[in-house]
Amino acid sequence: MKQDNKVYNSFLDLIGNTPLVKLNKITSEFEGNFYAKIESFNPGQSSKDRIALYIIEEAERKGILKPGDTIIETTSGNTGFSIAMVSIIKGYECVLAVSSKSSPDKIDMLKTMGAKVYVCPAHVSADDPRSYYEVAKRLHQERKGSVYINQYFNELNIDAHYHSTGPEIWQQTEGEITHLVACSGTGGTISGTARYLKEQNPNIKVIGIDAFGSVIKKYHETREFDEKEIYPYRIEGLGKNLIPAATDFDVIDEFVKVTDEESAHTAREIARTEGMFVGYTSGAVVQGLKQLGEAGTFKKDDKVVVIFPDHGSRYMSKVYSDKWMNDQGFFDSVNEETLEKVQY
Ligand code: PMP
Repeated sequence: MKQDNKVYNSFLDLIGNTPLVKLNKITSEFEGNFYAKIESFNPGQSSKDRIALYIIEEAERKGILKPGDTIIETTSGNTGFSIAMVSIIKGYECVLAVSSKSSPDKIDMLKTMGAKVYVCPAHVSADDPRSYYEVAKRLHQERKGSVYINQYFNELNIDAHYHSTGPEIWQQTEGEITHLVACSGTGGTISGTARYLKEQNPNIKVIGIDAFGSVIKKYHETREFDEKEIYPYRIEGLGKNLIPAATDFDVIDEFVKVTDEESAHTAREIARTEGMFVGYTSGAVVQGLKQLGEAGTFKKDDKVVVIFPDHGSRYMSKVYSDKWMNDQGFFDSVNEETLEKVQY
């Protein structure tokens, strides 16, 4: 059992230093040693606690924020939750402009954490004054001393992981890491972590996981924005329909694409094999790992680190709902085990 008798001053002191845990079963068919960085051990249950704390504390250091000032962002996802949590503890107002597509559960969760939530119409273009981007920009201009996190276009998103996730993994693997495999959404996690690790050892291979329906992989290969790559997909937090400035494409060696369906089944398999209840993108990253393993990417002594960005509890009405899986057509007749569940 873990021994830790420390008393902490607030949840802020618990951000970062997440555990690195060996994967013992799900990757056993492949050569190599695999370890997962469990970001749901952050108090806000995701890696986004790191960027919320880092960006807000950078603004404090620069003297931009004083008590009662406002922090603004345009997300109902993990970043929104983390910003709301850090804001409450530090005494700032948190304003989140979110899309009307966001689930009522998510909006309730943000309100519970004290955030003021503006629900903006989903089906307007990004430059429409009613869009959540424009609402956030306007609020930022109107409120003196406010901070707009703007995670897709904020370099501090990269810096947050350069100063925390990267050094932690380097220390936890005693410098023996050979591969980093991580999802890319804003790209902040993979870019900051990879930048630090490659400064320590340029031979470390960095592999990003992207979704079918996202432009990121193609952009990495061609440095061209190809609209034809874009179509709807279900995994949240992975891939994008634009090129984020928070992605440093130069520190990433290659991208692997994964499907909604395989990632969903793999997320469930992680729970059943490793006993780890983690989010949809953790399923995506292990799905990518399987594809790489099958292609013979890893050798016996390799030390491969993957990042599990968040906790499974945020996906009860999605990946972990049999009804949702069935509605997506993700249960099929060849899968006896899941078919039995559906009939039950
Ligand atoms: N997984 C989940 C669940 C996320 O919310 C995010 C962030 N959008 C990511 C992965 C990807 O992290 P990053 O934005 O740092 O690339």
